[in-house]
Amino acid sequence: MKRIGVLTSGGDAPGMNAAIRAVVRTGAYYELQVLGIYRGYQGLIDDNVVEMGPRSVSGIINRGGTILRSARCKAFFEKEGRAQAAETLRKHGIEGLVVIGGDGSYRGALTLYDEHGIACVGLPGTIDNDIGGTDYTIGYDTALNVALEAIDRIRDTAESHDRIFFVEVMGRHSGYLAMMSGIAGGAEEILVPETPTSIETLVEHMRSYRAKGKQSAIIVVAEGDELGNAIQVAKQVDALAQIPDSRVVVIGHLQRGGTPTAFDRVLASRLGVRAVEALIEGVSGKMIGISANQVVLRPLEEAWECRTQFDPKLTRIAHILAT
Ligand code: ADP
Repeated sequence: MKRIGVLTSGGDAPGMNAAIRAVVRTGAYYELQVLGIYRGYQGLIDDNVVEMGPRSVSGIINRGGTILRSARCKAFFEKEGRAQAAETLRKHGIEGLVVIGGDGSYRGALTLYDEHGIACVGLPGTIDNDIGGTDYTIGYDTALNVALEAIDRIRDTAESHDRIFFVEVMGRHSGYLAMMSGIAGGAEEILVPETPTSIETLVEHMRSYRAKGKQSAIIVVAEGDELGNAIQVAKQVDALAQIPDSRVVVIGHLQRGGTPTAFDRVLASRLGVRAVEALIEGVSGKMIGISANQVVLRPLEEAWECRTQFDPKLTRIAHILAT
């Protein structure tokens, strides 16, 4: 293998830059040429490709987002779009591709491999931590700490005004971030899609906290919760329990940006080095993950077939500690 490509695709996540840096520098270490592809699969279709070397990734390990940009690319869902992408890869002599993204990006990579035989390995880059085949995804730890800092700040004002705050935490279909930030922030309630609850139960819990002397409360709501988003949950609680003075905070995209934590930088570095070594070894159709603190290779399909979920015991722990 002489030339490899690297791209970031789907939702951006802090630590993607550290992963790009690791791929580019490991490539250089093994005397490979590394090409960066801008805007994910869209860049392959548009032939938006640039040569990268160790100096093109200087000073990015501490930066959030992705210097290669990211995109969601409709054309890549179509056979013609993928043929165009494969043509770009062939034109540049790219024999192996490192795809940094979520499980959607992996589906794309696998199809590209099946249809055109281009070796692909995946690095898990998403804040949601819902990808199978790895204990942690790149970006999750940073997003968790951003959400936690927000919850800590909200608690200050919640306590000062004896108020109830509904705080919406990101995570499309996964309550992982909400659960962990809620426990770490000492939330009174954590609503996640994995363990559905009812408005009646929620109100009952809130009344019991009040009866025990709690004057304020933080209710963390996962963005994909079955009861709705934080605004909708607050409205339902208000209708049932007449708590007109509650407030809603949606952390939203704040959670996706910012300086990656040491954990995410180290994770991205470890996985990035292994990704390039795997391509050199002739591996394809695999994702690089971390399991029991060891770097592992897993089939790309595991990303969506065996999704990572939090331990269900955590729901109980959160409830006990909110007493
Ligand atoms: P993520 O990688 O964060 O899960 P998406 O699900 O949006 O993000 O996927 C990113 C991109 O990957 C899509 O815009 C598309 O270009 C490509 N992709 C996703 N699923 C498929 C698929 N089934 N076939 C081909 N390409 C796909």
